[in-house]
Amino acid sequence: MKEITIVRTSNPKKKPDYSNLGFGKYYTDHMFLMDYSPDLGWHDPRIVPYGPISLDPAAMVLHYAQTTFEGMKAYRTGDGRTLLFRPWDNFRRLNSSDNRLCIPQIDVDFAVEAVKTLLRVDMDWMPTEVGTSMYIRPFVIATEPHLGVRASNSYLFAIILSPVAAYYPEGMAPVRIYVEDEDVRAVRGGTGEVKAGGNYAATIRAQNKAAEKGYTQVLWLDGVHRKYIEEVGTMNVFFLIDDTVVTPALTGSILPGITRMSCLEMLRSWSIPCEERLISVDEVKTALRNGRIREAFGTGTAAVISPIGHLAFGEETYEINNGSIGPVSQRLYDELTGIQWGRLPDKYGWTTEV
Ligand SMILES: *Cc1c(COP(=O)(O)O)cnc(C)c1O
Repeated sequence: MKEITIVRTSNPKKKPDYSNLGFGKYYTDHMFLMDYSPDLGWHDPRIVPYGPISLDPAAMVLHYAQTTFEGMKAYRTGDGRTLLFRPWDNFRRLNSSDNRLCIPQIDVDFAVEAVKTLLRVDMDWMPTEVGTSMYIRPFVIATEPHLGVRASNSYLFAIILSPVAAYYPEGMAPVRIYVEDEDVRAVRGGTGEVKAGGNYAATIRAQNKAAEKGYTQVLWLDGVHRKYIEEVGTMNVFFLIDDTVVTPALTGSILPGITRMSCLEMLRSWSIPCEERLISVDEVKTALRNGRIREAFGTGTAAVISPIGHLAFGEETYEINNGSIGPVSQRLYDELTGIQWGRLPDKYGWTTEV
């Protein structure tokens, strides 16, 4: 494996107030960088003091959004270990995103080693309060100065770290969701099934509209028929209909979440029936009217499980499970967070120690 050079800061920053971290507000003292050029491939892996990176104004990422990213977390256990949750899956997904955007592949084992090395260098930043974690943001940008639309010849792979607060300081709280029927997030054949920067810029307008109406997040419908349920905000979505857990199938416009995959594996190990299939808005509305939707929730790295308490289709609004958390949502949350913070045995082999 390539040697990672480490240049430590001579000027460590003042640590933030760890009881008020928020999300993505603070960054640690160091960052990981690695360059790509056609003759050298990925080269010069290094950990350097955190700070601005300089780019040519014609750098292709700034014009055509040839950029991908990942989101994962490190967790401090009660006995002082630091755990990563399925990091190989994150870097396999980064490679799938990179493949879609014609960015060269990165060695998955090397990338996991880079994350671990960076975490060790910045270990004094690791939050220890209950529910807090270190959010890890790997990303790739196209750096070649060029204005024609084609793949860049040079790239930068970077990893930054941000200590983040507990997502639910007062316990898991159900959210209000607005079903978006104008803007769409993705279509099959586009980039919705990968983590590409441009996907997210296009979601801000709908998110703003939902917020103005008093909702927390948007529920996205498919971009062709505006008929099938896809995702909720930047989370995958699940419904408990009667006794079966149903989630949209990965048909090409849905992001294959690692939390989604983990929830399906847990549900199957508990012998709770699960289906991955198309779910239409009409099916959901009818099931809501008949009281057959017992729970609904989003899944993602940030919130783990986000119970849906209200669902609005235009002026029509429905309450789910009296706006409170259901037993399946709670069980998934408890099991997953138990494994992530090392409180429960990791019988699936999902965690790795830093
Ligand atoms: C990252 C992301 C998810 C959740 O993926 P996890 O691996 O579970 O964090 C879901 N949908 C979108 C659009 C995303 O960007």
